[in-house]
Amino acid sequence: MRGEEAGVLPVYVELEALVKAVRHCREGLPYEVIGFLIGERLRWRDKLYVLITDTVRGRSVQTRTYVEFDQDALAEVAGLIREEHPDAEIVGWYHSHPGYGCFMSPTDIRSHTTCFPYPHQVALVIDPVRGEASFFKVDGEGDYRTVPSAVVRRTRGQDR
Ligand SMILES: [Zn+2]
Repeated sequence: MRGEEAGVLPVYVELEALVKAVRHCREGLPYEVIGFLIGERLRWRDKLYVLITDTVRGRSVQTRTYVEFDQDALAEVAGLIREEHPDAEIVGWYHSHPGYGCFMSPTDIRSHTTCFPYPHQVALVIDPVRGEASFFKVDGEGDYRTVPSAVVRRTRGQDR
C-alpha cells in the first residue's frame, strides 16, 4: 500500500472547495444533496491524479435517503464550468449520506459509472452528521474502493 501511494496521492482537494461541499451537505439536512467536483487532471511521472479546486452544487432529485442525478444538470454545469473555470474540468461528484456513513451504494456505483467513466474521476461521500468524508473510485467490475486523499491550501499567486 505504501509503495503504491508513494510520491503522489490520487486526490488532492483544496480546503475551501471541501468546506464549500460540506456546508452544502449541512444545509441540506436531513436530505441528501449532490454536487460536482471541479479541478484539474495532473500527472506526476506515470501517475494520474486530480486536484479539486472548487465544488458546484448540483440539481438533483432528492428524498431523505436517495439521491439521483438530474441528467440535464451535467450539461448545464459543464457549460458553467467552461465559462467560469476555463482551465478546469469536472473531476467527479460529491453527495451526502446524512448519518449513515461513507460508502458507495449500488445506486451510487451506477451513477458514477454512467456519469463519470474516466479512471481519474472520483466520488466524494460526506456524512455531515458524523463529520466524515471519503473519496472513492469505481473499478470496471462495479467494485468500489476508498482512495487516499489530502487536503491542501491554495498556493500563493492564485487569487480567486
Ligand atoms: Zn450515496
